[in-house]
Amino acid sequence: MYYKSTRDASIKKSAAEAIACGLSADGGLFVPEYIPCLPDGALDKLCKMGYVERAVYVMSLYLEDYSAAELTAFASAAYGPRGFDTPAAAPAKKLDANTHFLELWHGPTCAFKDMALQMLPHLLTAALKKTGEKRAVCILVATSGDTGKAALEGFCDVPGTRIIVFYPENGVSDIQKLQMTSQKGDNVLVSAVKGNFDDAQTGVKKIFSDKEFAARLSERGFFLSSANSINWGRLLPQIVYYISAYCDMINDGTVVSGAPVNFCVPTGNFGDILAGYYAKKMGLPIKTLICASNRNDVLTDFIRTGEYNRNRPFHTTISPSMDILISSNLERLLFDLSGGSDAEVAEYMTKLAAEGRYNVSKRIFDAVQSEFYGGCCSDEETKAVIRETFEKFGYLIDTHTAVAYKVLASYRAETGDAAPSVVVSTASPYKFCDSVLDALGDKSGAAGIGLIEQLEKVSGVPAPKPLKALKDASVRFNRSVPKDGMRGVVDDFLK
Ligand SMILES: *Cc1c(COP(=O)(O)O)cnc(C)c1O
Repeated sequence: MYYKSTRDASIKKSAAEAIACGLSADGGLFVPEYIPCLPDGALDKLCKMGYVERAVYVMSLYLEDYSAAELTAFASAAYGPRGFDTPAAAPAKKLDANTHFLELWHGPTCAFKDMALQMLPHLLTAALKKTGEKRAVCILVATSGDTGKAALEGFCDVPGTRIIVFYPENGVSDIQKLQMTSQKGDNVLVSAVKGNFDDAQTGVKKIFSDKEFAARLSERGFFLSSANSINWGRLLPQIVYYISAYCDMINDGTVVSGAPVNFCVPTGNFGDILAGYYAKKMGLPIKTLICASNRNDVLTDFIRTGEYNRNRPFHTTISPSMDILISSNLERLLFDLSGGSDAEVAEYMTKLAAEGRYNVSKRIFDAVQSEFYGGCCSDEETKAVIRETFEKFGYLIDTHTAVAYKVLASYRAETGDAAPSVVVSTASPYKFCDSVLDALGDKSGAAGIGLIEQLEKVSGVPAPKPLKALKDASVRFNRSVPKDGMRGVVDDFLK
């Protein structure tokens, strides 16, 4: 199987090449030439497997240039007890007769990005070997919180790699900041930037496009790469948990093999829900993919009208990982729904860059309507859902997951669909203590790291160990640089 670009389908790369490159040279994203089907009887086999074996089974359908032995070693390291606090890695928990929560936050940083970022470093370093790359890779990340820490944990002490994370000085929570500045590992560096997230992001992009700097680093044996969600190596591990959740639902008697279920996904960059779409194309019995947004409802409007329009106010919400106006992975969906038309996708993306909007063809719009339901909710509704879910079930959810649960309720009310549904739960409630305590109405003046103990007291639900351990964490990185000092940080570190 080869990989092609969404904007130029004549480009052909092996899986290793696609993962090593990240983005295609024409600006497009890499997609597999076809979506492999789950073979007959695959689900029954997968039901009997643990998460690591499920991951190997699914990923090997896409990665012909990786051996089963390699993938087994990678998945065991990625989802094993060193990083994950449950052998199930991504357990689907049953809340009521037709609602499950797929908990994707049992990894080292307590958010779903671990599912991909624990795996990516293995896939990437193997890809560099396979493609004959001799230089060491340095991953550059600009983060608004979750991605930076998950990337740091993933790449920490991985041979042949370095990682540098920039975060906006006053743009992340105290907990997120301490998670990053106390990061262990000899190949990591963390620096604050005096500015907001956009400044950090722009700074990183500038460094990436600096050819003279790249040549200098290359002489020293380094090249720069990114760990963001456009890399195929980040998307692929996410397909696994949709299939795994379905197997869990067969195993607990909720569905018989073949019966349809819905997945409701809190969405930002459209990476997570796109993985669900690919799982469906592989043959997983998914009825509707429900795309949940917060007040930044660009995707809700897109699914309902066929117009993608980013020209609208940007809102800061209590589910910050979904505060996004350009969902980069949507490009892969458009490519698939257009029947693989690179010219059509290139036209939409050119329009998006120039005018901030585009209208899809009738063919794509009809397909979007039949595969997806889009909905959104406000911060007030999000908080109400957290409170109600805790009061009714004693189950504590974070703000992103609450958005999804609320939108699932809207979907059920609007369509009357009673099929079993899975809410994709993307973060531990302890990652967003402040808002969750607010929702429960019991902050009692706690602040910073103290919020973790306060939430434990109020909810009686124990906090994940990595977050509790922050109390005794010591800060290793306390540097803060002006916007134009970011390149110097990279230059110093890669000596
Ligand atoms: C990143 C993130 C999301 C959004 O995922 P996408 O793949 O960008 O759609 C949702 N919830 C949490 C907690 C996240 O960190």
